Amino acid sequence: MAKNTQKRIPVKWIRDRAKGAYQKQSKCWVCGTNQDLELHHTHSITLLLEQWCQQLGIALDTDESVLAVRDQFISEHHRELYELVYTLCNPHHVRLHQIFGKAPGLGTATKQQSWLELQRQKQSGEVLSKPSWGSPFSEFTSGDSRGNKRIF
Ligand SMILES: [Zn+2]
Ligand SMILES: [Zn+2]
Repeated sequence: MAKNTQKRIPVKWIRDRAKGAYQKQSKCWVCGTNQDLELHHTHSITLLLEQWCQQLGIALDTDESVLAVRDQFISEHHRELYELVYTLCNPHHVRLHQIFGKAPGLGTATKQQSWLELQRQKQSGEVLSKPSWGSPFSEFTSGDSRGNKRIF
């Protein structure tokens, strides 16, 4: 017999409901590329849901029990679900999860933000602070035939 595929993991229900409001931006927050963009929540929805259920003593063992609290969960976690979201290109997203793990702990959200800030600064730094050697005329003056320096 086929397995019961109707049973879904609880967080899927939350994602379904909240998905419509996710604002995926048109470029990577770090490097600005518009290729392979993905969304990253600094607060793992899975962990948020687990924590919330534990605190309230709710068991999400049936689809019905998830559906019953779904809207409440979403409204209480609006910031984490809709605001603390970064649009990242796949390479930057992968990199973040290599550093912070597959489901980064909720306590690492601030660290993730700092890391993202740093990567962003590095990116813009490469563009903005090209080593400046000054104008070719500022340092070297061409001497005229009498050996006098022309100063510009
Ligand atoms: Zn990127
Ligand atoms: Zn992510």
